[in-house]
Amino acid sequence: MADSQSARPGDGNDPRDEPGSQGGPGSDANGSPYGPAEGDANSPANTSGSGSGSDPANGEPNDGATGADPGAGSTSPDATSSDAHAPEVRSSDTASADDAAPHRDSSSGASSGVAAREPAAPRDSAGDSTSPRSLMLCGARLVDGRTVDVRLGGGRIEAVGTAGSLAQSPQPGGGTRVDLAGYLLLPAPAEAHAHYDTALTAVSPTSDGPPRSAPEDVQRRTTEAALLQLGLGATATRTHVHIGDVAGLRSLEAVLQARRALRGLVELSTVAVPRLLTGVAGADGLSMLRDAVKMGASVIGGCPDLDPDPAGYVDAVLEVAAEHGCPVDLHTDGADPARLSRLAAAAGGLRPGVAIGPCAGLARMSYKPAVRTAERLAAAGVTVVCLPQGGCAVLERPSQTSPSRVAPVRLLKAAGVTVAAGSGALRDAANSVGRGDPLEAAYLLASHGEAGPEAAYDAVCARARTTMGLPEVRVEAGFPAELLAVRGTDLAGALSLAYSRIVVHRGRVVARTSAVREFCDFTGTSEFDLPRQSQG
Ligand SMILES: [Zn+2]
Repeated sequence: MADSQSARPGDGNDPRDEPGSQGGPGSDANGSPYGPAEGDANSPANTSGSGSGSDPANGEPNDGATGADPGAGSTSPDATSSDAHAPEVRSSDTASADDAAPHRDSSSGASSGVAAREPAAPRDSAGDSTSPRSLMLCGARLVDGRTVDVRLGGGRIEAVGTAGSLAQSPQPGGGTRVDLAGYLLLPAPAEAHAHYDTALTAVSPTSDGPPRSAPEDVQRRTTEAALLQLGLGATATRTHVHIGDVAGLRSLEAVLQARRALRGLVELSTVAVPRLLTGVAGADGLSMLRDAVKMGASVIGGCPDLDPDPAGYVDAVLEVAAEHGCPVDLHTDGADPARLSRLAAAAGGLRPGVAIGPCAGLARMSYKPAVRTAERLAAAGVTVVCLPQGGCAVLERPSQTSPSRVAPVRLLKAAGVTVAAGSGALRDAANSVGRGDPLEAAYLLASHGEAGPEAAYDAVCARARTTMGLPEVRVEAGFPAELLAVRGTDLAGALSLAYSRIVVHRGRVVARTSAVREFCDFTGTSEFDLPRQSQG
């Protein structure tokens, strides 16, 4: 993961220093795709590409994100405060293609210093979603190897042309240019399986007592988790929310409140997860499930494995889903072929779609029953959302006899099953180290041989979006401008070292993460012309 090497900390004289580094000739304050950091108001990078003095991006905080900035939790304060000479990643979102040379120099040669940091406070880039201005992404690499300019407007991709072809043309209504030299531009991933109501609740030695579940706590955690995943690239997320028991619908209400506040930054959909749906206790669960849908839950979920009557539970879920025209997304370990086959038979007629996951039990099944079960799921059109990071055992019957595994993706796909991949636990009781990174989910699939890099990314992107009922995204004119720029030149490299990221939602930059890594006192590298950051 060495993305730079050589020289001394803070040696700003190396012209190949990371753009934005302080001091040296290479330390162009406009070097980041965003220009200068807040507080550097004198930098010319604060001039927008269109020269607009009323650029809402300048100095204006994220709408809806103030106080929960995705960068706030991931900054390396010691790196930025302890070494005044270390290169600094600066940020603004108004750098023009002419005055910004982001990372152009970082693809060649050595650099200096010791630092690993991210920008302190990603800021909103292109105004609100109704901004008439367009956004030009210049010099981005695509997975097919082309280097292109991409013009965004009205929340969609307006045009894709060879590098330099669009940057010369005037942009309707003015606009912002972002230099993406050194970046791979991808359709943005989507998070198909999150648990925001319990995210970030893992108890640690520094925890201040057990996690609180008051609505304001749930709303805060949901906001923080959604922004965290947005910074990682997920511009749409589906989160499961527990309903019933003591909390009733309060957690769902809190998550929906967070959803409203996050509008314009990330699309958040909710899955209502009732505990019991059969027997005497199930009557209350059914009533609450219907109330949850009326309140705004858009997907019917649950965990049939935990109900005394799993088949009855599935029937109840499908009945409510059919009543309201909702898709279904159920938790199941998937270890029982008969149960899965029955679910497939029952689910086949539900038009909005049925997803199940994480189905790690399928990986413990012997081959032939697993194939037969997969074929039944495929015939019924049931999608499997696997969790390469591991299960989200909060809602499942934990396995006492086997470690966490991932569903057999190759086997499922060979049988014709649509397989998406999600993240699952995000630092909660099920997984205190859960990262919630869609690119890591893809990395794990590829790294463990369940898919090649392209198919692995497809699982967290196109297949996840399909599962969530979202329109397809391609880096082509006419498609939604839901994009992720990742440092690198090809997909395998991006999945391997996906540090620096720029996230576009509805045609505007909504998050960015920039990483700089440098090595101290290593002088024998310039002869190799090693890149400052991995180019994938
Ligand atoms: Zn789950």
